Amino acid sequence: MSTVLLEVVTPDRLLFSHPVEFVVVKGGMGEIGILPRHAPLATTVQPSIVKVRMEGGGEDYIAVSGGFLEVRQDRITLLADAAETSMTLDVERAQRAKQRAEERLSQRGEGIELTRAEAARDRAALRLQMLELSNASGNVFEKVLTESVSK
Ligand code: ATP
Repeated sequence: MSTVLLEVVTPDRLLFSHPVEFVVVKGGMGEIGILPRHAPLATTVQPSIVKVRMEGGGEDYIAVSGGFLEVRQDRITLLADAAETSMTLDVERAQRAKQRAEERLSQRGEGIELTRAEAARDRAALRLQMLELSNASGNVFEKVLTESVSK
């Protein structure tokens, strides 16, 4: 099957740059599936889990805390506020962040504090959910990317 280059860029790094067969992203208007030769597209991306099908069919996942997606000339560029794969995730940090946010929420704060705690809890929960999905699908990025480095 043909592929399209997926690049995921965050303010600190190029997290991912690899040919892929298919990407599913939660855009501002809902879920979008992108195959090679997709029409040009620009959209915001919601905090969500991006599903990626690598060459050969294995799937893996990227947690993104919102951002912007552009598709053009057979390249998909996702500019993310923050993004992690199972290879870059610090699990204990995400668990601590979730617990901290839940403690703040249980103290029944209000207004901006409540909104911030909910957003922090949701970011941590997304990261942990991404890890579960990645583990369940066999951590495909780890296999493919390690192989391509050692080739
Ligand atoms: P924390 O409270 O642990 O800092 P956060 O949700 O407030 O979490 P963000 O503001 O979303 O963190 O992200 C700041 C930077 O830290 C980003 O580069 C993001 O990729 C990274 N980051 C956040 N949590 C983790 C994690 N659990 N593992 C790896 N990197 C993380």
